Amino acid sequence: MLARARILLALGGVDHPRFRRFVSRACTVCEWEGQTVESPSSAVDCPWCHAPSRIVREELLVPIVAGKHPIAAALSRLGAAAGGRARAQSLSPARRREIAIAAARARWRR
Ligand SMILES: [Zn+2]
Repeated sequence: MLARARILLALGGVDHPRFRRFVSRACTVCEWEGQTVESPSSAVDCPWCHAPSRIVREELLVPIVAGKHPIAAALSRLGAAAGGRARAQSLSPARRREIAIAAARARWRR
């Protein structure tokens, strides 16, 4: 299940490919208005006159997990993913191997 999050404007835009967007669009030429679910940076032409459309409103679609605030969880995941990548790059291969071995031992302990 997905929640619509109205946080884009408040944050100055979250540009991350993980989240699809519920987008309200209007044609730049004719009277057409519509709503679609889009990935970031997809250009949508007006279905009536094929002119470019502009975004009227944009909302993030974030997964709902029981017991967690969906927007907070989504933002946290963005930060956590970046932190994990940064840590993996800063460690030496030998140190990553030590950590992986320790983790495997911990999983199989008992
Ligand atoms: Zn149009």
